[in-house]
Amino acid sequence: MKYTPAFEQTADDWMKSVIREEENTAFTENGKDFINDLKIESLILNNKNPEKRKIRDIIQKSLSIKRLNPDETAALLNVEEPELLEEMFSAGGEVKKRVYDNRIVTFAPLYLSNFCVNNCLYCAFRKDNSEEKRRRLTLKEVEEETKALISAGHKRLIVVYGEYPSSSIDYITDTINTIYSVKVRHNGIRRVNVNAAPMSVEKMKKLKESGIGTYQVFQETYHHETYKKVHPSGIKSNYRWRLYALHRAQEAGIDDVAIGALFGLYDWKFEVMGLIYHAIDLEKHFNGIGPHTISFPRLEPAANTPFSRGGKYKVSDDDFKKLIAIIRLSVPYAGMIITARETAAIRRESLRLGVTQTDASTRIGIGAYSESYSEQEAERQQFILGDTRDLNEVIGEFADMGYITSFCTAGYRCGRTGKCIMELLRSGKERWFCKMNAVLTFREWLDDYATEKTKVKGEKIILKEISEIKKNIPKTFSEFMEKYEEIKRGQRDLYF
Ligand code: SAM
Ligand code: SF4
Repeated sequence: MKYTPAFEQTADDWMKSVIREEENTAFTENGKDFINDLKIESLILNNKNPEKRKIRDIIQKSLSIKRLNPDETAALLNVEEPELLEEMFSAGGEVKKRVYDNRIVTFAPLYLSNFCVNNCLYCAFRKDNSEEKRRRLTLKEVEEETKALISAGHKRLIVVYGEYPSSSIDYITDTINTIYSVKVRHNGIRRVNVNAAPMSVEKMKKLKESGIGTYQVFQETYHHETYKKVHPSGIKSNYRWRLYALHRAQEAGIDDVAIGALFGLYDWKFEVMGLIYHAIDLEKHFNGIGPHTISFPRLEPAANTPFSRGGKYKVSDDDFKKLIAIIRLSVPYAGMIITARETAAIRRESLRLGVTQTDASTRIGIGAYSESYSEQEAERQQFILGDTRDLNEVIGEFADMGYITSFCTAGYRCGRTGKCIMELLRSGKERWFCKMNAVLTFREWLDDYATEKTKVKGEKIILKEISEIKKNIPKTFSEFMEKYEEIKRGQRDLYF
């Protein structure tokens, strides 16, 4: 849709009112933010050809579930030797096992509005893309989308919005409330995570009140100069408003925050360092609470968006695997998310390197879950997906690989968030809560949604998990089995 002058006017006035400069400087030190480009470049340079001994010590530190410091991450970034790389890959898998066990969490993204005042060069929703069909779902349409997602077996969503006056905080909270209110028989969405543009503390307090799980904002690129180049106008051109978005979220009481970088805009090694510095600065200001998850999407081709075809910073599959393992080793307590932007083959490999969450049966067009969706329309969505398999197929494949899919949403509903979850994760205790909740929610899912083929695969995993619970936490075993049997008899939403 074309923006009429009246629209431009409204959006311009609104943009001026969004950024609060005083909140922008609240966390800077001597007028500087926590990304020092020169320091990052020199750490990467000074750690060239790291000694084997140093790398092995770093791996050991990570295996004891300690967050690495930037110098250590920079050393890992410079490893080229195949033997050492293999050690890093298998340590990544081991760290994941110690913190998160063999569980994988699934979710679906739900795109609600693609109106946007920004002009991110890489995104099909950018304001100047006159070929993009603009749409904002009505609450009735949100209901329909939610019904379709519940019927497909989802319990967790991430809602996604462009940045625009009409999809600002009131629309965001209205749509979240609508999603939580929808039930299909006894099932509903139990956790709504949010990916929306940075807001003021005041607005984020409203966001918290709507009962969200995680609030996610990607910095896209941490490199100041590149950031400026790829965000030429709009609110998003303000680097610090975005960099400190999750600091403000914590200040507003949202203690479950998620960071990410869009790989392909600048040197991937720099972006990994940026993510580590981001985690460290959050820990520093918020009593040790770092990011709950880290995302590392690669730039995908988007319709009528030439920049998204990629340039010299395009990340190869080999480097992609490396960066996954390095993020895993650097921030052992954080969940790691890979999305359907990636192909099934890459997603499979990433699980072994330490990924903990992924989406399935994904559609990223507005209204795409409940309405018929032509191929032509699919081409006009935000970007092109690499894996469009449905939940049954993906879950069956995970089961074949020895992973149990968890639909657990207990953590934030019984207060295991923020400081509490960080300590449980760092001590390895969360793993057992998670294992029990994974089995309980997977039992529900198999009974409610699985095809016969997926059920056969799932039952095998469930038996194995139950015997591990019996062996490792014998004291809780009978209480666990009581809940398990109740679920088999038709009870729903039981958890530890
Ligand atoms: N408008 C909000 C924002 O920018 O934070 C939230 C929605 S935006 C659609 C969500 C994310 O999509 C962005 O943070 C960006 O990383 C990702 N994205 C945009 N264009 C992409 C592309 N061509 N390939 C892969 N990811 C892309
Ligand atoms: Fe708008 Fe977000 Fe796309 Fe940028 S990435 S154009 S802010 S929807």
